[in-house]
Amino acid sequence: MELQDRVAVVTGAGSGIGRGIALAMAGRGARVAAVDLDAGSAAETARLLMGAGGKGMGLQADTSRATEVDRAVSAAVSQLGPLDIMVNNAGILDGYWNVDETDDAVWERVLGINLTGVFHGCKRALREMLPRGHGRIVNMASVAGLNGTGGGAAYVASKHGVVGLTRQMAVTYSARGITINAVAPGPILTGLRAHSQEILGPGVPDMSGRGVAVDDAAVRAIAPAGRRGTVEEIASAVCFLASDEAGYITGHTLVVDGGWRAK
Ligand code: NAD
Repeated sequence: MELQDRVAVVTGAGSGIGRGIALAMAGRGARVAAVDLDAGSAAETARLLMGAGGKGMGLQADTSRATEVDRAVSAAVSQLGPLDIMVNNAGILDGYWNVDETDDAVWERVLGINLTGVFHGCKRALREMLPRGHGRIVNMASVAGLNGTGGGAAYVASKHGVVGLTRQMAVTYSARGITINAVAPGPILTGLRAHSQEILGPGVPDMSGRGVAVDDAAVRAIAPAGRRGTVEEIASAVCFLASDEAGYITGHTLVVDGGWRAK
């Protein structure tokens, strides 16, 4: 799982799983651009990884906007070197609303970040990777990308979309030296609900208390492991898929869920 001297862009790296991935990759020797909607938290991740002896930078971008993804990847490449690894991790929760409860604007924003944002990241990364005939793309899905639960209509649809996009891209680009995989976490303790509430903005009903993993008892009921996973446990799966050891793995969705999907 050595990533020595690889250049990685990680989106949604200002917090939670993305920050864990950025720190884990930097700890394995990669130079990491930590990209987030929130400039301060992206800068803080860069400060943390450099404080631990790693190399990298923080960048602000909204991944739902192609021009901003382009700007961030261009800055990363010009300052850190040719792109080896793209981790499309940025995402938000939808409040667990069903179709009849889902506001059109919430649907657009959730799909815009969780699916179109991943598309923008993949497309921009391919521009760097295809000419070099080498690259690793890892997209953040969820158990909600495989089951009809784990989120509301927009979240579940967006994460199923990520799994499908990953497969389609693997079929298309694997012969050209690029592997494309997804990771599907189960319940992980992060600021996802609070951040999603903030990003969706005022007027969106309170999403705390909704869903299938609201407290420890609910987590025990869904995950045979009997606990939440950690950001480090997701990060190690992403590092594996980004490493040379995973060279023949492509189009795969790696479930890291404490056994939830096995039930
Ligand atoms: P988090 O809120 O802690 O981290 C997500 C980060 O993404 C935040 O820093 C946020 O500012 C950033 N972000 C949101 N929209 C963005 C945008 N448009 N552009 C750039 N950055 C943006 O949440 P997390 O749990 O670490 O979530 C990371 C990913 O993991 C998401 O895709 C989420 O759907 C997925 N996931 C999380 C869990 C879980 O239980 N926490 C489970 C399955 C999948």
